[in-house]
Amino acid sequence: MLAANIEYYKPATIQAALEQFYLLKNKRKRPIYYGGGTEVLTLGRLNLIETDAVIDLKGIRECQSFEFDQEYLITGAALPLTYIEEKNLFPLLTSSSMGIADHTARNKITIGGNICGQIFYREAVLPFLICESKAVIAGENGIQIFALNEIFNETLQLEEGQFLLQLLTEKRYIHLPFVSIKKRQQWDTGYPLLTVAAVKVEDQIRFAFSGLCPFPFRSRKMEDELNNLQLPLKERISRALLQVPSPILDDIEGSKDYRLFVLRNTLNEIILDLEGK
Ligand SMILES: Cc1cc2nc3c(=O)[nH]c(=O)nc-3n(C[C@H](O)[C@H](O)[C@H](O)COP(=O)(O)OP(=O)(O)OC[C@H]3O[C@@H](n4cnc5c(N)ncnc54)[C@H](O)[C@@H]3O)c2cc1C
Repeated sequence: MLAANIEYYKPATIQAALEQFYLLKNKRKRPIYYGGGTEVLTLGRLNLIETDAVIDLKGIRECQSFEFDQEYLITGAALPLTYIEEKNLFPLLTSSSMGIADHTARNKITIGGNICGQIFYREAVLPFLICESKAVIAGENGIQIFALNEIFNETLQLEEGQFLLQLLTEKRYIHLPFVSIKKRQQWDTGYPLLTVAAVKVEDQIRFAFSGLCPFPFRSRKMEDELNNLQLPLKERISRALLQVPSPILDDIEGSKDYRLFVLRNTLNEIILDLEGK
């Protein structure tokens, strides 16, 4: 539950944010990091987040970077989704981001908040999973860089006090052919029935999914089946469907069977597009 007199801090440096976190912990407070605050406030009001002190990461310069260095596109964790879309430095990310919530909410929602949030769709992580980005994590051991595919297992595996600072994406991935498709049961905004992001790297297509299971994921087993050119497309897809991790969602957005039906058609559409048939 959100305390009536919640404490708000906006440190200007990584070190100050970490110090503030441990200072609050030592005072027996329940600090959490804060990006756009949309989820903290929404879930806090429903008693699904318990905190009495928030540490806003938007004052930290490194969290606001969105630029290329020699090797990488650097994406700061506190950037609002609409900023990323307007700059459009990473077209696949722009496309995935534009499907999340609505424009007004995306003015607030940050990339780090989406990836680290409890609401399990976390659609913004899909481009980073298939482009094998790196996650820059700040914590009491300093700044550490991890392969995102290793540290993101259903959720970003952060230790207490750590926060996501940036994502690094090799430049060679930025302009590869891609498809990003979000299917909803109804309306133009809202949670996905199914979201798929795909990128073609040399002659292989990589896929990541949200809305299919109660976590976003990339599956090498599904990719192996989908890229098996020895088989007809229909069979490649049927075999890939057998590799979908469980559980498959069966909820108000759509039944399990309907999701699999939509997945089959969406994979067909993406593969025909990226294989140029
Ligand atoms: C109206 C609405 C519609 C939505 N629709 C979708 C949708 O279609 N698809 C989808 O994927 N999501 C959707 N969401 C979920 C939404 O994307 C997340 O709840 C939101 O992204 C949180 O972002 P934020 O920046 O506001 O995070 P905050 O509320 O600031 O934080 C969310 C959580 O992440 C933690 N956190 C934030 N930043 C960091 C960081 N850098 N490092 C470590 N931890 C951090 C916070 O401590 C908190 O636990 C929707 C949410 C709303 C309110």
